[in-house]
Amino acid sequence: MSTPFWAPPPERHPGELPDKADVLIIGGGIAGTSLLWHLARRRIDAVLVEQHHLAWGASGRNAGFLLAGVASSYSEAIQRYGREKARQVWEITSENHDRMVEAARGMDIGHRRLGSSILPAGDEERDRLIESEQLLRDDGFEVRWDGSRLLNPRDGELDPSKMVAALALQAKGQAIREGVRVTAVVPRRRSVLVRAGEAECDAGVVILATNAYTPQLVPSVKIQPTRAQMVATAPETTVVAPVPVYSNFGYRYWRQLATGEVLLGGWRDTSFETENTYDDEPTAEIQSQLDRALDDLRVNARVTHRWAGTMGFTETGLPLSGAVEGMPNVYLCAGFTGHGMAFAFMTAKQVAEAV
Ligand SMILES: Cc1cc2nc3c(=O)[nH]c(=O)nc-3n(C[C@H](O)[C@H](O)[C@H](O)COP(=O)(O)OP(=O)(O)OC[C@H]3O[C@@H](n4cnc5c(N)ncnc54)[C@H](O)[C@@H]3O)c2cc1C
Repeated sequence: MSTPFWAPPPERHPGELPDKADVLIIGGGIAGTSLLWHLARRRIDAVLVEQHHLAWGASGRNAGFLLAGVASSYSEAIQRYGREKARQVWEITSENHDRMVEAARGMDIGHRRLGSSILPAGDEERDRLIESEQLLRDDGFEVRWDGSRLLNPRDGELDPSKMVAALALQAKGQAIREGVRVTAVVPRRRSVLVRAGEAECDAGVVILATNAYTPQLVPSVKIQPTRAQMVATAPETTVVAPVPVYSNFGYRYWRQLATGEVLLGGWRDTSFETENTYDDEPTAEIQSQLDRALDDLRVNARVTHRWAGTMGFTETGLPLSGAVEGMPNVYLCAGFTGHGMAFAFMTAKQVAEAV
Protein backbone atom coordinates (compact mmCIF):
# COMPACT_ATOMS: atom_id res chain seq x y z
CA MET A 1 0.00 0.00 0.00
CA SER A 2 1.14 3.55 -0.74
CA THR A 3 1.57 5.42 2.56
CA PRO A 4 3.10 8.86 1.96
CA PHE A 5 5.23 10.31 4.73
CA TRP A 6 3.65 13.78 4.51
CA ALA A 7 0.31 14.32 6.24
CA PRO A 8 -2.37 15.71 3.90
CA PRO A 9 -3.43 19.34 4.53
CA PRO A 10 -5.71 19.14 7.61
CA GLU A 11 -8.44 21.51 6.35
CA ARG A 12 -11.12 19.85 4.21
CA HIS A 13 -12.96 21.69 1.42
CA PRO A 14 -15.89 19.52 0.36
CA GLY A 15 -17.79 21.04 -2.55
CA GLU A 16 -19.44 20.72 -5.92
CA LEU A 17 -18.71 21.84 -9.44
CA PRO A 18 -19.99 25.45 -9.71
CA ASP A 19 -22.58 26.23 -12.44
CA LYS A 20 -20.44 29.12 -13.63
CA ALA A 21 -16.84 30.27 -13.11
CA ASP A 22 -14.69 33.00 -14.61
CA VAL A 23 -11.70 30.71 -14.27
CA LEU A 24 -11.88 27.02 -13.34
CA ILE A 25 -8.65 25.36 -12.22
CA ILE A 26 -8.62 21.56 -12.34
CA GLY A 27 -6.16 19.93 -9.92
CA GLY A 28 -5.29 20.68 -6.29
CA GLY A 29 -1.53 20.16 -6.19
CA ILE A 30 1.24 22.75 -6.04
CA ALA A 31 0.38 23.95 -9.57
CA GLY A 32 -3.35 24.41 -8.89
CA THR A 33 -2.94 26.13 -5.53
CA SER A 34 -0.17 28.37 -6.94
CA LEU A 35 -2.53 29.37 -9.78
CA LEU A 36 -5.25 30.23 -7.29
CA TRP A 37 -2.77 32.36 -5.32
CA HIS A 38 -1.51 34.28 -8.39
CA LEU A 39 -5.01 34.82 -9.83
CA ALA A 40 -6.27 36.15 -6.46
CA ARG A 41 -3.44 38.70 -6.49
CA ARG A 42 -4.68 39.83 -9.91
CA ARG A 43 -8.26 40.05 -8.54
CA ILE A 44 -9.42 37.31 -10.90
CA ASP A 45 -12.14 35.07 -9.46
CA ALA A 46 -11.21 31.43 -9.77
CA VAL A 47 -12.54 28.13 -8.46
CA LEU A 48 -10.26 25.12 -8.00
CA VAL A 49 -11.70 21.60 -8.21
CA GLU A 50 -9.82 18.50 -7.05
CA GLN A 51 -11.01 14.92 -7.45
CA HIS A 52 -9.68 13.68 -4.08
CA HIS A 53 -8.15 16.14 -1.58
CA LEU A 54 -5.49 18.85 -1.83
CA ALA A 55 -1.97 17.43 -2.32
CA TRP A 56 -3.37 13.96 -3.07
CA GLY A 57 -1.15 13.69 -6.18
CA ALA A 58 2.61 14.05 -6.59
CA SER A 59 2.54 17.27 -4.54
CA GLY A 60 1.85 15.32 -1.35
CA ARG A 61 4.19 12.45 -2.18
CA ASN A 62 7.48 14.01 -3.23
CA ALA A 63 10.86 14.43 -1.57
CA GLY A 64 10.40 18.14 -0.95
CA PHE A 65 13.69 19.16 -2.56
CA LEU A 66 13.89 22.73 -3.83
CA LEU A 67 16.69 22.48 -6.37
CA ALA A 68 17.73 24.97 -9.01
CA GLY A 69 17.52 23.60 -12.54
CA VAL A 70 16.38 20.30 -14.02
CA ALA A 71 17.47 16.72 -13.31
CA SER A 72 20.39 16.88 -15.71
CA SER A 73 23.53 18.90 -15.04
CA TYR A 74 23.96 22.46 -16.29
CA SER A 75 26.41 21.27 -18.92
CA GLU A 76 23.88 18.78 -20.34
CA ALA A 77 21.09 21.37 -20.11
CA ILE A 78 23.19 23.78 -22.21
CA GLN A 79 23.68 21.06 -24.83
CA ARG A 80 19.97 20.35 -24.88
CA TYR A 81 18.44 23.83 -24.65
CA GLY A 82 21.26 26.23 -25.50
CA ARG A 83 23.14 28.47 -23.08
CA GLU A 84 20.56 31.25 -22.73
CA LYS A 85 17.60 28.94 -22.20
CA ALA A 86 19.53 26.83 -19.67
CA ARG A 87 20.45 30.00 -17.78
CA GLN A 88 16.77 31.05 -17.75
CA VAL A 89 15.73 27.64 -16.40
CA TRP A 90 18.23 27.91 -13.52
CA GLU A 91 17.14 31.50 -12.87
CA ILE A 92 13.42 30.77 -12.86
CA THR A 93 13.80 27.79 -10.53
CA SER A 94 15.93 29.86 -8.14
CA GLU A 95 13.30 32.60 -8.20
CA ASN A 96 10.59 29.96 -7.70
CA HIS A 97 12.28 28.93 -4.46
CA ASP A 98 12.40 32.49 -3.10
CA ARG A 99 8.91 33.55 -4.18
CA MET A 100 7.08 30.39 -3.20
CA VAL A 101 8.55 30.39 0.30
CA GLU A 102 7.77 34.12 0.59
CA ALA A 103 4.11 33.38 -0.29
CA ALA A 104 3.95 31.16 2.80
CA ARG A 105 5.64 33.66 5.10
CA GLY A 106 4.68 33.20 8.74
CA MET A 107 3.40 29.65 8.16
CA ASP A 108 5.15 26.41 9.04
CA ILE A 109 6.14 24.71 5.77
CA GLY A 110 9.23 22.93 7.11
CA HIS A 111 11.49 25.05 4.93
CA ARG A 112 15.26 24.92 5.40
CA ARG A 113 17.83 26.44 3.05
CA LEU A 114 20.69 24.10 3.85
CA GLY A 115 21.94 23.92 0.28
CA SER A 116 22.20 20.73 -1.74
CA SER A 117 24.88 18.30 -2.73
CA ILE A 118 24.98 16.67 -6.16
CA LEU A 119 27.01 13.52 -5.83
CA PRO A 120 28.30 11.88 -9.03
CA ALA A 121 27.58 8.17 -9.32
CA GLY A 122 30.32 7.64 -11.92
CA ASP A 123 33.07 9.28 -13.99
CA GLU A 124 30.76 10.62 -16.69
CA GLU A 125 28.58 12.42 -14.16
CA ARG A 126 31.65 13.65 -12.28
CA ASP A 127 33.08 15.23 -15.45
CA ARG A 128 29.71 16.82 -16.21
CA LEU A 129 29.47 18.32 -12.72
CA ILE A 130 33.01 19.70 -12.80
CA GLU A 131 32.27 21.30 -16.16
CA SER A 132 28.92 22.57 -14.84
CA GLU A 133 30.58 24.29 -11.89
CA GLN A 134 32.56 26.57 -14.19
CA LEU A 135 29.64 27.19 -16.54
CA LEU A 136 27.31 28.02 -13.65
CA ARG A 137 29.82 30.39 -12.06
CA ASP A 138 30.40 32.10 -15.41
CA ASP A 139 26.64 32.63 -15.61
CA GLY A 140 26.49 34.15 -12.13
CA PHE A 141 25.29 31.17 -10.04
CA GLU A 142 26.80 30.44 -6.67
CA VAL A 143 28.03 26.81 -6.73
CA ARG A 144 31.17 25.00 -5.60
CA TRP A 145 32.84 21.71 -6.58
CA ASP A 146 34.51 20.45 -3.39
CA GLY A 147 36.48 17.65 -5.01
CA SER A 148 33.72 15.05 -4.74
CA ARG A 149 30.38 16.82 -5.12
CA LEU A 150 28.74 19.94 -6.47
CA LEU A 151 27.36 22.15 -3.71
CA ASN A 152 24.63 24.72 -4.27
CA PRO A 153 24.24 26.75 -1.06
CA ARG A 154 20.96 28.35 -2.19
CA ASP A 155 19.00 25.10 -2.60
CA GLY A 156 16.60 23.93 0.09
CA GLU A 157 13.86 21.61 1.24
CA LEU A 158 10.35 21.74 2.68
CA ASP A 159 7.26 19.74 3.55
CA PRO A 160 5.44 19.84 0.19
CA SER A 161 2.02 19.09 1.63
CA LYS A 162 2.31 21.96 4.13
CA MET A 163 3.35 24.22 1.23
CA VAL A 164 0.15 23.36 -0.67
CA ALA A 165 -1.85 23.90 2.53
CA ALA A 166 -0.22 27.30 3.10
CA LEU A 167 -1.29 28.52 -0.35
CA ALA A 168 -4.77 27.05 0.06
CA LEU A 169 -5.24 28.79 3.43
CA GLN A 170 -4.98 32.12 1.62
CA ALA A 171 -7.82 31.29 -0.80
CA LYS A 172 -11.31 32.78 -0.45
CA GLY A 173 -14.13 30.67 1.01
CA GLN A 174 -15.66 28.24 -1.54
CA ALA A 175 -12.76 28.79 -3.96
CA ILE A 176 -11.54 25.22 -3.36
CA ARG A 177 -13.83 22.27 -3.91
CA GLU A 178 -12.59 18.80 -3.15
CA GLY A 179 -14.26 15.59 -4.28
CA VAL A 180 -15.06 16.90 -7.77
CA ARG A 181 -13.75 14.66 -10.56
CA VAL A 182 -13.89 16.40 -13.92
CA THR A 183 -14.92 14.02 -16.67
CA ALA A 184 -14.94 16.28 -19.75
CA VAL A 185 -13.63 19.65 -20.95
CA VAL A 186 -15.40 20.88 -24.11
CA PRO A 187 -14.55 24.29 -25.60
CA ARG A 188 -17.55 26.23 -26.95
CA ARG A 189 -17.72 29.54 -28.83
CA ARG A 190 -17.07 31.90 -25.93
CA SER A 191 -16.66 29.61 -22.96
CA VAL A 192 -15.75 26.08 -21.94
CA LEU A 193 -18.20 23.41 -20.85
CA VAL A 194 -16.83 21.35 -17.98
CA ARG A 195 -18.56 18.19 -16.80
CA ALA A 196 -18.16 16.28 -13.56
CA GLY A 197 -20.51 13.35 -13.96
CA GLU A 198 -24.00 14.87 -14.33
CA ALA A 199 -22.92 18.34 -13.15
CA GLU A 200 -21.98 21.03 -15.69
CA CYS A 201 -20.05 24.29 -15.42
CA ASP A 202 -19.90 27.12 -17.90
CA ALA A 203 -16.32 28.42 -17.45
CA GLY A 204 -14.77 31.47 -19.09
CA VAL A 205 -11.34 29.89 -18.89
CA VAL A 206 -10.17 26.44 -17.79
CA ILE A 207 -6.64 25.74 -16.54
CA LEU A 208 -5.45 22.16 -16.45
CA ALA A 209 -3.24 21.76 -13.38
CA THR A 210 -3.60 18.00 -13.65
CA ASN A 211 0.07 17.19 -14.34
CA ALA A 212 0.44 13.44 -15.13
CA TYR A 213 -3.34 13.02 -15.37
CA THR A 214 -3.78 15.66 -18.11
CA PRO A 215 -3.96 13.18 -21.03
CA GLN A 216 -6.90 11.47 -19.31
CA LEU A 217 -8.88 14.68 -19.95
CA VAL A 218 -7.15 15.94 -23.10
CA PRO A 219 -5.45 13.02 -24.88
CA SER A 220 -3.59 15.30 -27.33
CA VAL A 221 -1.38 16.67 -24.50
CA LYS A 222 1.90 14.78 -24.49
CA ILE A 223 2.66 14.07 -20.83
CA GLN A 224 3.96 10.64 -19.80
CA PRO A 225 2.82 9.35 -16.40
CA THR A 226 5.96 8.20 -14.59
CA ARG A 227 6.03 6.51 -11.19
CA ALA A 228 8.57 7.49 -8.54
CA GLN A 229 8.97 5.55 -5.29
CA MET A 230 10.21 6.51 -1.83
CA VAL A 231 10.73 5.28 1.71
CA ALA A 232 10.96 7.13 5.03
CA THR A 233 12.42 5.88 8.30
CA ALA A 234 11.88 6.53 11.98
CA PRO A 235 14.31 9.11 13.44
CA GLU A 236 17.91 7.99 12.87
CA THR A 237 20.31 8.99 15.63
CA THR A 238 23.36 9.55 13.39
CA VAL A 239 23.55 12.24 10.74
CA VAL A 240 23.60 10.53 7.33
CA ALA A 241 22.69 13.53 5.17
CA PRO A 242 23.51 16.98 6.53
CA VAL A 243 22.10 18.47 3.29
CA PRO A 244 19.74 17.01 0.64
CA VAL A 245 21.64 14.74 -1.77
CA TYR A 246 20.87 14.22 -5.45
CA SER A 247 22.80 11.64 -7.45
CA ASN A 248 23.02 9.53 -10.61
CA PHE A 249 21.49 12.20 -12.89
CA GLY A 250 18.56 12.65 -10.49
CA TYR A 251 17.65 8.95 -10.30
CA ARG A 252 18.68 8.78 -6.61
CA TYR A 253 17.94 11.25 -3.84
CA TRP A 254 17.86 11.35 -0.06
CA ARG A 255 17.57 13.84 2.77
CA GLN A 256 17.31 13.83 6.54
CA LEU A 257 14.84 15.93 8.48
CA ALA A 258 15.88 18.02 11.50
CA THR A 259 14.09 15.37 13.60
CA GLY A 260 16.28 12.58 12.16
CA GLU A 261 13.94 10.78 9.72
CA VAL A 262 15.64 9.75 6.48
CA LEU A 263 13.67 10.09 3.23
CA LEU A 264 15.11 8.28 0.23
CA GLY A 265 13.76 7.74 -3.25
CA GLY A 266 14.36 7.07 -6.91
CA TRP A 267 16.14 4.08 -8.47
CA ARG A 268 13.58 4.21 -11.32
CA ASP A 269 16.46 3.63 -13.74
CA THR A 270 16.71 0.04 -12.49
CA SER A 271 13.24 -0.76 -13.84
CA PHE A 272 12.20 1.74 -16.55
CA GLU A 273 9.80 -0.71 -18.18
CA THR A 274 7.53 -0.98 -15.12
CA GLU A 275 7.53 2.71 -14.09
CA ASN A 276 5.65 4.36 -16.99
CA THR A 277 2.33 3.87 -15.27
CA TYR A 278 -0.56 5.52 -13.42
CA ASP A 279 -0.40 2.76 -10.81
CA ASP A 280 0.76 4.53 -7.64
CA GLU A 281 1.57 1.46 -5.56
CA PRO A 282 5.19 0.82 -4.54
CA THR A 283 6.76 -2.31 -6.08
CA ALA A 284 8.84 -4.98 -4.32
CA GLU A 285 11.56 -4.62 -6.96
CA ILE A 286 12.28 -0.92 -6.42
CA GLN A 287 11.53 -0.95 -2.69
CA SER A 288 14.25 -3.56 -2.22
CA GLN A 289 16.69 -1.23 -4.04
CA LEU A 290 15.70 1.55 -1.63
CA ASP A 291 16.24 -0.78 1.36
CA ARG A 292 19.72 -1.64 0.06
CA ALA A 293 20.50 2.06 -0.37
CA LEU A 294 19.49 2.71 3.27
CA ASP A 295 21.88 -0.08 4.32
CA ASP A 296 24.67 1.47 2.22
CA LEU A 297 24.07 4.78 4.03
CA ARG A 298 24.25 2.83 7.32
CA VAL A 299 20.74 3.86 8.35
CA ASN A 300 19.66 1.67 11.26
CA ALA A 301 16.24 3.17 11.91
CA ARG A 302 13.31 1.07 10.68
CA VAL A 303 11.29 2.00 7.58
CA THR A 304 7.96 3.54 8.58
CA HIS A 305 6.55 4.64 5.21
CA ARG A 306 6.69 3.27 1.66
CA TRP A 307 4.93 5.05 -1.16
CA ALA A 308 4.83 5.96 -4.83
CA GLY A 309 3.53 8.95 -6.76
CA THR A 310 2.92 9.80 -10.38
CA MET A 311 5.08 12.42 -12.07
CA GLY A 312 4.24 13.95 -15.47
CA PHE A 313 7.14 13.88 -17.94
CA THR A 314 7.30 16.02 -21.09
CA GLU A 315 9.36 15.44 -24.23
CA THR A 316 11.52 18.52 -23.61
CA GLY A 317 11.89 17.96 -19.86
CA LEU A 318 10.40 21.43 -19.29
CA PRO A 319 6.86 22.32 -18.10
CA LEU A 320 4.00 22.95 -20.52
CA SER A 321 2.35 26.31 -19.92
CA GLY A 322 -0.06 28.44 -21.94
CA ALA A 323 -2.94 27.83 -24.33
CA VAL A 324 -3.81 24.29 -25.43
CA GLU A 325 -3.67 24.03 -29.20
CA GLY A 326 -7.11 23.71 -30.78
CA MET A 327 -8.92 24.33 -27.49
CA PRO A 328 -9.84 28.01 -27.10
CA ASN A 329 -9.83 29.29 -23.51
CA VAL A 330 -8.17 26.13 -22.18
CA TYR A 331 -4.71 26.55 -20.64
CA LEU A 332 -2.04 24.18 -19.35
CA CYS A 333 0.13 24.44 -16.26
CA ALA A 334 1.56 20.92 -16.09
CA GLY A 335 4.31 18.50 -17.10
CA PHE A 336 6.85 19.24 -14.38
CA THR A 337 9.02 16.19 -15.13
CA GLY A 338 9.91 15.40 -11.52
CA HIS A 339 10.69 19.01 -10.53
CA GLY A 340 7.31 20.59 -9.85
CA MET A 341 8.22 21.96 -6.44
CA ALA A 342 11.03 23.85 -8.17
CA PHE A 343 8.97 25.11 -11.12
CA ALA A 344 5.24 25.25 -10.45
CA PHE A 345 4.93 28.51 -8.52
CA MET A 346 6.63 30.54 -11.28
CA THR A 347 4.96 28.58 -14.10
CA ALA A 348 1.61 29.34 -12.46
CA LYS A 349 2.55 33.03 -12.38
CA GLN A 350 3.20 32.97 -16.13
CA VAL A 351 -0.11 31.22 -16.80
CA ALA A 352 -2.01 33.62 -14.51
CA GLU A 353 -0.53 36.52 -16.49
CA ALA A 354 -1.53 34.91 -19.80
CA VAL A 355 -5.10 34.36 -18.56
C1 LIG B 1 8.25 10.32 -5.28
C2 LIG B 1 8.37 11.68 -5.88
C3 LIG B 1 9.42 12.50 -5.52
C4 LIG B 1 9.53 13.78 -6.06
N1 LIG B 1 10.46 14.63 -5.57
C5 LIG B 1 10.45 15.93 -5.96
C6 LIG B 1 11.31 16.87 -5.32
O1 LIG B 1 12.01 16.55 -4.38
N2 LIG B 1 11.31 18.14 -5.78
C7 LIG B 1 10.49 18.54 -6.82
O2 LIG B 1 10.57 19.70 -7.24
N3 LIG B 1 9.63 17.68 -7.37
C8 LIG B 1 9.58 16.39 -6.97
N4 LIG B 1 8.69 15.52 -7.51
C9 LIG B 1 7.78 16.02 -8.55
C10 LIG B 1 6.65 16.88 -7.96
O3 LIG B 1 6.04 16.18 -6.92
C11 LIG B 1 5.65 17.21 -9.05
O4 LIG B 1 6.31 17.76 -10.17
C12 LIG B 1 4.61 18.22 -8.56
O5 LIG B 1 4.07 17.81 -7.34
C13 LIG B 1 3.51 18.36 -9.60
O6 LIG B 1 2.52 19.17 -9.04
P1 LIG B 1 1.13 19.33 -9.79
O7 LIG B 1 0.29 20.21 -8.96
O8 LIG B 1 1.39 19.71 -11.20
O9 LIG B 1 0.56 17.83 -9.87
P2 LIG B 1 -0.12 16.91 -8.76
O10 LIG B 1 0.38 17.20 -7.41
O11 LIG B 1 -0.04 15.51 -9.26
O12 LIG B 1 -1.61 17.40 -8.77
C14 LIG B 1 -2.51 17.12 -9.81
C15 LIG B 1 -3.89 17.00 -9.16
O13 LIG B 1 -4.87 16.94 -10.19
C16 LIG B 1 -5.92 16.13 -9.70
N5 LIG B 1 -6.71 15.67 -10.84
C17 LIG B 1 -6.27 14.93 -11.87
N6 LIG B 1 -7.28 14.68 -12.73
C18 LIG B 1 -8.38 15.29 -12.21
C19 LIG B 1 -9.73 15.39 -12.65
N7 LIG B 1 -10.15 14.80 -13.78
N8 LIG B 1 -10.60 16.10 -11.91
C20 LIG B 1 -10.20 16.70 -10.74
N9 LIG B 1 -8.92 16.63 -10.29
C21 LIG B 1 -8.02 15.93 -11.02
C22 LIG B 1 -5.21 15.00 -8.98
O14 LIG B 1 -6.05 14.35 -8.06
C23 LIG B 1 -4.03 15.72 -8.33
O15 LIG B 1 -4.29 16.06 -6.98
C24 LIG B 1 8.58 14.23 -7.03
C25 LIG B 1 7.52 13.39 -7.41
C26 LIG B 1 7.40 12.14 -6.83
C27 LIG B 1 6.23 11.26 -7.21
